[in-house]
Amino acid sequence: MSAPVTVPPKSHSSLFNTFARAPLEFERGEGAWVFTPSGEAYLDFSAGIAVNSLGHANPVLVAALAEQAGKIWHTSNLFRIPGQERLAERLADASFADRVFFANSGAEANECAIKTARRYHFVNGHPERFRIITVEGAFHGRTLATLAAGGQEKYLEGFGPKADGFDQVPFGDIEAVKAAITPETAAIMVEPIQGEGGVRSFPPGYFKEIRALCDAHGLLLVMDEVQTGVGRTGKLFAYEWTGVTPDIVSLAKGIGGGFPLGACLATEEAAKGMTPGTHGTTFGGNPLAMAVGNAVLDVVLADGFLDHVRETGLYLKQRLAALVDQHPTVFDGVRGEGLLVGLHAAKPVPEVVAALRAQHMLAAGAGDNVVRLLPPLTIGKAEVDAALEKLEAACRAFEPAPATHQA
Ligand SMILES: *Cc1c(COP(=O)(O)O)cnc(C)c1O
Repeated sequence: MSAPVTVPPKSHSSLFNTFARAPLEFERGEGAWVFTPSGEAYLDFSAGIAVNSLGHANPVLVAALAEQAGKIWHTSNLFRIPGQERLAERLADASFADRVFFANSGAEANECAIKTARRYHFVNGHPERFRIITVEGAFHGRTLATLAAGGQEKYLEGFGPKADGFDQVPFGDIEAVKAAITPETAAIMVEPIQGEGGVRSFPPGYFKEIRALCDAHGLLLVMDEVQTGVGRTGKLFAYEWTGVTPDIVSLAKGIGGGFPLGACLATEEAAKGMTPGTHGTTFGGNPLAMAVGNAVLDVVLADGFLDHVRETGLYLKQRLAALVDQHPTVFDGVRGEGLLVGLHAAKPVPEVVAALRAQHMLAAGAGDNVVRLLPPLTIGKAEVDAALEKLEAACRAFEPAPATHQA
């Protein structure tokens, strides 16, 4: 008989230590609510960072995924995938685009956008035109190229030389864009509203001038709508608010409703260099993702859905404006469009997010000292009212209790 072997309990997680996670987990969700294993309910105004666009366990999406799961999951892009043809056609019909490439994430959608822009100039006989102008404070993803596009030092540090070909200009500064254009410039890449950067909108007229510069210099206009797209701002695409039409748009987050899905949309002209063999993906656009993506569009494109998002967004912003007036030591501004809303905090954002969590409400931090509210697009007044109650309670927790007077 040998002595029993006791395995010492691990004192650490086996995961890469890349995330500073909240000490919370959720077992199920329903609409805008998520539930811990012990049954505690949290109001989800982060929606997996703008991903659960139609709420948790949406019956339309659950049915679409379950039905497809019983048929076929994956075939690869060696074969035709009818769901891709259909989703691409619907996205094209509803937008500026003629062509769509499906990927699995926002960063991958942006990689495709960057490659498409460079390849366009290459097939036009200008391989030297590969540089892309991007905006400070942008977030385009965590691959080596999209990190270089975002240009944020804190994310680039320690990962070797920054990938060449990206020129950052200060936020909202048209003169800086003009000055950055050279004979090597291929495109300007910009979020219609900076999401991670702090729900920052550009000055009025900015995009008209950007489009004019693109036209004058033969540049492609790439809009990163990974966060703003698919109804988040109350229009199907946020570029519709800008009054200009892009040449290339990247999507992800909301289009899969929680299933990993990204897409790169382009005009026929902009996509003309992307011929067989120039780009690819194993998983991108697989039948499961396409079933869910088409179901998301069924809901978002239904009559009145985007009107509802705009109305709910307006109601939320009005109530938040009143909150800011009443609690200026906690919040000092409201910004954003539709249900992409930022509360500018007068306290450190991690403390505010933790105070909301203590009230059982989930929100996401962002740059520029902003707390982001990104609820499912399906919420109504009841969920906004519930959120305001929790926000009020969180504000009160920051404020000194009123002095009690004794007789
Ligand atoms: C989240 C985000 C990305 C990156 O998406 P991933 O799916 O994490 O790769 C890129 N651009 C914008 C604007 C985003 O908000």
